[in-house]
Amino acid sequence: MKVLYDTGWAAPPTTVEARLTGDVRCDVVVIGGGGGGMAAAIRLAEKGADVVLLEARTLGAGASGRNAGYITNSIAADPEMLGLLVKPDRLRALYRYAENAVHFAEETIEKHAIDCGHVKTGIVMAAVTNGQLRRARRIAKVLQKNGAAAEFVDGREAGLPQGFLGGVRERVGGTLNPGEFVLGLREATIAAGVRVYEYTPARDVTDTGDGVTVETPGGTVHAQRALLMTNADNGAFSIAPKNLATPTYTCLLETEPIAPERLDAIGWTSRAPMVSLHMILENHRVTPRGTIVFGTRRVEAGHNPYLNAPPRRLSPRIWSAASASGSPACATSDSNACGAGGSP
Ligand SMILES: Cc1cc2nc3c(=O)[nH]c(=O)nc-3n(C[C@H](O)[C@H](O)[C@H](O)COP(=O)(O)OP(=O)(O)OC[C@H]3O[C@@H](n4cnc5c(N)ncnc54)[C@H](O)[C@@H]3O)c2cc1C
Repeated sequence: MKVLYDTGWAAPPTTVEARLTGDVRCDVVVIGGGGGGMAAAIRLAEKGADVVLLEARTLGAGASGRNAGYITNSIAADPEMLGLLVKPDRLRALYRYAENAVHFAEETIEKHAIDCGHVKTGIVMAAVTNGQLRRARRIAKVLQKNGAAAEFVDGREAGLPQGFLGGVRERVGGTLNPGEFVLGLREATIAAGVRVYEYTPARDVTDTGDGVTVETPGGTVHAQRALLMTNADNGAFSIAPKNLATPTYTCLLETEPIAPERLDAIGWTSRAPMVSLHMILENHRVTPRGTIVFGTRRVEAGHNPYLNAPPRRLSPRIWSAASASGSPACATSDSNACGAGGSP
C-alpha cells in the first residue's frame, strides 16, 4: 500500500492570528476554536458582545476540521430506544432541534459564502445484514412518527453499493469538506470582530466571583463569562468537572480519485453518502473530486496518537479493517492508496 502525504481535508490556514501577550479584558472569552467555539463567538459578537477567542492551535484544527464531513440530523442515540424511553412530545422536539441544527449549519455556509463543496444530498443510514435491515424498517417508522424527514429504502432502488442492503434515508442534511468549512468559518469569525488568538492554549480558568480569568502562556484574559468549547479536552481546568469525558481518537481515510464507471460497477449509482447503522464512525462518501472518504469503527482512547504521528503507522491497519468489512473504498481503489485525516 502507498500512503500519500499531500492529501487531507484542507490545507491549514495560510496566515496565523497572533498569540496572546499581556492582559486583555472582554465580555466573553471563548476557549477552543472548533466549529462550536467559532459559531458561538460569531453569534455573541453579532449580539454586540466584546469576544475573545483562544485557540491552542489554529481555528478548526480539531475534530471540526477533520471529521467525516456529514451534516446530519442524526441524534447519537438509538431511535428505537428513544421511542421507548422519551415522551412523544419531547422526542418530536428533539428531532426538530436536530433538524434545525442542520439548517443552522446550512444557513451559516450560505450567509458567509463558505466554499466547501457542500451538497444537500441527505444521508443513508445503511444496513449490511438482514438483521440491520429489519432494524432500519423499525427505525424509519420511529423517525417518521416523530416528524423526522426519513424513509426506509431498498439498497438496489436507492443505488447503494453491493453489500449495502438498504437503510433509512434521511432527506435532511448532506456533506461538505470539513477542512474548507472551518477555513471559511475562521474568516467569518475574524470578520465578525472576534479577537482571535491562535497558538494560545488556556492553561486554567478561575472563577473570581465577579467574572473569570483565563491564564495562557503569554498573558491573561479577564472576562465576565467564559465559554468552554474545547470538546473533550478540558480535563486540566480546575473549574471543569473531573472525569466527565475521556478523549477518544480515530482515523479517516481518503482514496485516490476513482473512475465513475468503477463506482457504477459496484452499484453505487446514486453516490448517496452513507453511515452505517451502528451510528458511529463507519461511513463512506464520494467527494466532488471523485475520491472516497471513509472511516471505520476503530476507536482508541487515551493519549492522542494522531495529532503528531504521520499516517504511515496507522493507515495499513485501518485499511485492512475496512477491507475486511467490505468497504466500497477498498472494492474500487486499485492501488489502495489513501491519505489519512486523523480526527480527535
Ligand atoms: C472521526 C470523526 C468523524 C466525525 N464525523 C462527523 C460528521 O461527519 N458530522 C458531524 O456532524 N460530526 C462529526 N464528528 C463529530 C464532530 O467533528 C465534533 O462533534 C465537532 O467537531 C466538535 O466541535 P467542537 O467545536 O466542539 O470541537 P473541536 O472541533 O474539537 O474544537 C475544539 C478546539 O478546542 C481547542 N482546544 C483544546 N484545548 C484547548 C485549550 N486548553 N485552550 C485553547 N484551545 C483548546 C482544540 O485545539 C480545538 O481546535 C466526527 C468526529 C470524529 C472524531
